Amino acid sequence: MKMTITEKILARAAGKTVVKPGDNVWVNADILLTHDICGPGTIGIFQREFGKNAKVWDREKVVILPDHYIFTADEKAKRNVDILRQFAKEQDLPYYYDVGTTNYRGVCHVALAEAGHVRPGEVIFGTDSHTCTHGALGAFATGIGNTDAAFIMGTGKLLVKIPPTIRFVLKGAKPDYIMGKDIILRIIGDLGVEGANYCAMEFCAGGARLSIEDRMTICNMAIEAGAKNGIFAPDDLTFEYVRSRSKKTFEPLYSDDGAAVSSEKSYDLASFEPCVAKPHSPDKYAPAGKLKDVKIDRAYIGSCTGGKFSDFEAAARVMQGRRVCVDTFLVPATAEVAEKIRKETINGKTLENIFKEAGCLAIAKPSCAACLGGPDDTFGRTSGNEAVISTTNRNFIGRMGSKGSEIYLASPLTAAASAVTGRITDPREFM
Ligand code: SF4
Repeated sequence: MKMTITEKILARAAGKTVVKPGDNVWVNADILLTHDICGPGTIGIFQREFGKNAKVWDREKVVILPDHYIFTADEKAKRNVDILRQFAKEQDLPYYYDVGTTNYRGVCHVALAEAGHVRPGEVIFGTDSHTCTHGALGAFATGIGNTDAAFIMGTGKLLVKIPPTIRFVLKGAKPDYIMGKDIILRIIGDLGVEGANYCAMEFCAGGARLSIEDRMTICNMAIEAGAKNGIFAPDDLTFEYVRSRSKKTFEPLYSDDGAAVSSEKSYDLASFEPCVAKPHSPDKYAPAGKLKDVKIDRAYIGSCTGGKFSDFEAAARVMQGRRVCVDTFLVPATAEVAEKIRKETINGKTLENIFKEAGCLAIAKPSCAACLGGPDDTFGRTSGNEAVISTTNRNFIGRMGSKGSEIYLASPLTAAASAVTGRITDPREFM
């Protein structure tokens, strides 16, 4: 029987030769990811159900990355990190990336791949809905709750229902003013936030050769259409990325020609426009050029969706030689991204200096920062009725802090162009 890439990965991880949508199978996990928000809850359930002195099923496969509420004076947030620290010590976990040390990395979904924990054909579970990001590297990756994560901690397994696949064929070449964010916002706009509920979103862009970071942005937001996972077939770019970061061997898997999918949608990349998702839902698609009368109070570039190096590079290209006219918050996703912002240059100038000369606020330490609101002292958190253009992935009411603020989701190019003009702006005005 012909199978999709998602079905093949789950079949192999379940020790089966064939699975089909709707089957329930016990799947072996390759990686369990958790962080400071869900880690303490997961650890509590694990210790309650498996015993105070129980050991995790495989210490090499549990990866813990504090990243959400970490640069704050909030005592409850600090206690969460203390719980992670204590657990990592008790369990002697080799992959605990503690804040305040040189081992610190930053936002889990960018850091997990950077640190070489994601390989094609593997199964990644994480206590965070945006774990689907890792489908960018040809892995099955999905977000789970604390109870499921605790069960995996103890057993290494999880019961998974095989999702049906929706295939998205992206044809042609990607224009340089279009980023992964524009692609996924339009697809979510077409589908709606429930349009891919419990489906695998399989993206095929063979001719376009989207960058790994564009693929990460696209897979990251599969959950915003309700999907179980998003996935790209691995190619030479994937192998280059993975082999530069992981010494472990892996066996990639691919969809069979003619594998059954529940539906297939085709897009011509040349037809995409720089766009936003209007408040208060990621499916409220609008071309940026149609909203040029919408004033913004601030711009925010960061998060697992829009805080990767290529995101800052794109923003810097727009801001170079220009000034922003609204408060512009820059939050690198990881320490590696922050380092590259300091060192990499465009036309002989570091990105850091480009942003400084453009009048952006001082670059924050890498973390989730205001993507999820956070404690009152969180960098970039909204507190009033601000209109924000943001490279993050969710714009629900209150998501960035204040219930009064209005969030427009956009690519870093569109966010940077809008920061320069103070209104929502199609970046083609500056390209
Ligand atoms: S950056 Fe935002 S979406 Fe990503 S893991 Fe952090 S809070 Fe979640």
